[in-house]
Amino acid sequence: MDKMAIYLLRYTSELSLKGKNRSLFENKLLNNIKALFGPSEIEIKKEHRRAYILSDLSSAMIHSKLSCIAGLSSWSEILVSELDIESICRTVENFVCRREAFEEGRGDPISHLDQKKDCFDLRGKSRNDTCIRFSIQARRANKKFPLTSPEINRYVGKHIAEKFPQLIGDYKNPDFSIRIEIQEHQACIYENIERGMGGLPVGTGAKLVSLLSGGIDSPVASWMMMRRGSPIIFATFHSPPFLEEEGIEKILTLAKHLSRYQPKTKIYKVFFTEIQKSIKLNTHDRYRTILYRRFMHRVAEKIAQKENAQALITGESLGQVASQTLENLTCIGNATSLPVLRPLIGLEKEEIIERAKKIGTYEISIQPYSDCCTLFAPQNPTTKASLDRILEEEKKLDVENLVSDAFEKTEVITIGSLL
Ligand code: ATP
Ligand code: MG
Repeated sequence: MDKMAIYLLRYTSELSLKGKNRSLFENKLLNNIKALFGPSEIEIKKEHRRAYILSDLSSAMIHSKLSCIAGLSSWSEILVSELDIESICRTVENFVCRREAFEEGRGDPISHLDQKKDCFDLRGKSRNDTCIRFSIQARRANKKFPLTSPEINRYVGKHIAEKFPQLIGDYKNPDFSIRIEIQEHQACIYENIERGMGGLPVGTGAKLVSLLSGGIDSPVASWMMMRRGSPIIFATFHSPPFLEEEGIEKILTLAKHLSRYQPKTKIYKVFFTEIQKSIKLNTHDRYRTILYRRFMHRVAEKIAQKENAQALITGESLGQVASQTLENLTCIGNATSLPVLRPLIGLEKEEIIERAKKIGTYEISIQPYSDCCTLFAPQNPTTKASLDRILEEEKKLDVENLVSDAFEKTEVITIGSLL
């Protein structure tokens, strides 16, 4: 247990707005963490309004996994001390020793050194006479603790300055700050606060079906709705033999990448060739893209019914391309009675790209591929479709049979959460 690192997990402030449901949200979040790590990899300790995990995994691994957990606002790797000022001084001293060792390349991150030994005595050690400035920032959640926060700062700061002559206390302009949180049963000592992905735990919101293409936008749209607590089922439309298999491989890679944000991921692969052929043969080419989309939405609606999902998600953003004018989006959305969520609707392409880079889908999305919507794409697509005209065009098609045939031939791929 000595070698175990301890992490303090902080929930998003939205969780505190959940009143009586709060523990439901917290439990879901902790279960998602358990699902992402193997059962033997971590131990979770739940406390009032926060949680701790203990683990001997590398801190890089912990960080990469925790950054996929919706509902976490931040976390810190900590050392824990008993609740008396002398123990706190010793733990902070220990923390500084490890920090120094790590900075000088002599050690691992804080937690991976034995908590009791390994303390380097730096007194009298020359470090090119350069002084490092530090501050102590205490916060006393437990008001029964006999010293106030400024008193703790002064007491511990003095202790550290005495033990480490190369360190100078400087509250205004420190090179590093050590934070001490005085809690009910213990004190937590840490330096860094890592930012989590925010949002609400996946599984606390309604299930949704996301139309996932190989582009930049729809993976980001899916991620944004996962961050709002919704488990996502993916639907992707594919047109063999006109488009190569690589397209679907790429979408599976995207879905796998996104699967780290939710415990279980299902992808519906819909064969779209017959629908596209029928649209090409029977309707005016100006309306093709909108008709493709309306059919995608109809098949996705069937998937939603089967999965008990309550809305669709697309990566559309207002005005981004010809098919995404308000008139065209209205015609597309009208194909089903399900709500269509478009989380990117007001975002600039640059903002979407920035987000895609952060969540790691950008590099996958920019690999070349052809989306089925580019198949038989018209030279001059309408930017202002009227619903009446679209409905006229659809009269030329056997909508119901095309949709149910495509739905019946759909393949389902399931992936567990992987990282
Ligand atoms: P993306 O970057 O997500 O492909 P985009 O800006 O290229 O979006 P379009 O190609 O016009 O936009 O597609 C609009 C939306 O329709 C996509 O964001 C996606 O949700 C859905 N979509 C398009 N093609 C497919 C497909 N082959 N399979 C599943 N959904 C699709
Ligand atoms: Mg696209």
